[in-house]
Amino acid sequence: MPNARTHDTVNLITAAAANVAYFTLAPRPDVTLAALFTGSYLFAGYACAGDLDLDSREYRRWGRLRFLWWPYQKLIPHRSRLSHGLLLGGVVRACYLMVLCTLILWVTLWALSLLEPRVDPGAITRQQWASALSFFRSRPEHTTALLSGFILAGTTHSLTDMIATWFKRRF
Ligand SMILES: [Zn+2]
Repeated sequence: MPNARTHDTVNLITAAAANVAYFTLAPRPDVTLAALFTGSYLFAGYACAGDLDLDSREYRRWGRLRFLWWPYQKLIPHRSRLSHGLLLGGVVRACYLMVLCTLILWVTLWALSLLEPRVDPGAITRQQWASALSFFRSRPEHTTALLSGFILAGTTHSLTDMIATWFKRRF
């Protein structure tokens, strides 16, 4: 399995290559879409890639917040399809992150509701989800750029693992 530095280098090179390809080939390249894709791709490659399924450098990059990925690490076997599937790995982590954000919001609101009883954690969380969904529906290109960047970073990670394993077995 390649180390974290190799994955970081591959992540940076492929992000740069994707940008060169996009700005060269797209009929009307959009800087915002490219920035969303690249930001999401780099973030996912750096801190949300397949090796979160073990005590890896990606996992440790979350610092004190790494406990947030502890359930993921315990539930998902290392290098299983759920973490290293070419598309499934990224989709599972995107869903996990969405559930995590929802839980953090709900817990924060619940703590606030202890001080201020008028705060309704369930209602506000549902309202935030409705706003997010309406944003995603009204801006499909932005949503696609964000999600595809996140998911494809996982694809790149898994392909790098597969190529390294193939070389190790062959030579
Ligand atoms: Zn891996």
